[in-house]
Amino acid sequence: MVNEHFIILQSNRGGRKLDQSCLLTIVVPVYNEEIVLETLRERLVKVMDDLPTRCEAVLVNDGSTDRSLEILRAFVDADARFRAVDLARNFGHQYAVSAGLYIARGDVVAILDADLQDPPELIKPMLERWADGIDVIYGQRRSRKGETRFKLWAAHLYYWILSKMADVEIPRNAGDFRVIDRNVVDTINAMPENQRFLRGMFAWVGFRQEAFPYERDARLAGETKYPLMKMIRLSLDGIISFSMKPLRLLFYFGMIVTLLAFSSGAYLLLLRLFSPESFPPAVAGLFVTMLFMFGLNFIFLGIVGEYIGRSYINLQRRPVVIVRDVLERTGDEKTKSAGKRMGEL
Ligand code: UDP
Ligand code: MG
Repeated sequence: MVNEHFIILQSNRGGRKLDQSCLLTIVVPVYNEEIVLETLRERLVKVMDDLPTRCEAVLVNDGSTDRSLEILRAFVDADARFRAVDLARNFGHQYAVSAGLYIARGDVVAILDADLQDPPELIKPMLERWADGIDVIYGQRRSRKGETRFKLWAAHLYYWILSKMADVEIPRNAGDFRVIDRNVVDTINAMPENQRFLRGMFAWVGFRQEAFPYERDARLAGETKYPLMKMIRLSLDGIISFSMKPLRLLFYFGMIVTLLAFSSGAYLLLLRLFSPESFPPAVAGLFVTMLFMFGLNFIFLGIVGEYIGRSYINLQRRPVVIVRDVLERTGDEKTKSAGKRMGEL
């Protein structure tokens, strides 16, 4: 049952057997990945052939401007296990994955990057943990090959800040590579928030979760689709969606500054009364303090604005993402379904 206030699931969907009774969906977000797609298909096909379960691959085209969509269309034509989802524009990685999770039909779902940084071959051992009763098996990067020193350093710093700030514990060095039980997928799909920081949402929902350490490969080809600004945006989403601490810090800071102002005021008053000759030329100090306070004011206003902006966006109740087209084959006939809105269930 899903309504505005409760999500109630039942886990009597039958066992978790890795056989033909079970369907696995592999969700892959795709943004301008034309050079890696063929290799991705080959590796996915091999993995799907080897698995004892039935499989489908849902490839989500996130408004690519290169030939990605055409290539995906050819995949769907050639192999009925492939389905392609075409978003109405570039919504961003987290939104492409959200759309994929919504379209997925599997009893269990795997999320994978298109650039093959997360080896698809690992899905099999991860699935075995699922069959043992774990609901979320998240890939945890032991190493990150082919990433710049700046990115490694930034990631380190970011996870440190996140662990201090976030109100739920978000696992370190875990990206979006994971295998998830249907109950968790349904829960995530039912969560109405517009800012989708998936690894935070997964941490928030609970269930039985387990890390799966792996070596992260370098991107197969092409460039990262996460330039600095996108990284900063994702980081902010993570901290602000899962923490009230920045707002609380404001309050504490305000208290400290006020106390400081009071005590220095009192000190100056005493100096003036009892030792007027050592009274300092106040203007210089005043100027510096004022600048400092102005700067801080703007920073803090920004933080507050960020929260207000987010509540505003969520109040608008816009759909999370708009799917223009789902390309898939039923039986042997190619069908197209019309545009679909998601975000409201
Ligand atoms: N991606 C996407 N929409 C975007 C940016 C990225 O769907 O706006 C996809 C991209 O195609 C890839 C995954 O998200 O499959 C991760 O992106 P990328 O590998 O560029 O990020 P990085 O691994 O460098 O952090
Ligand atoms: Mg990558």
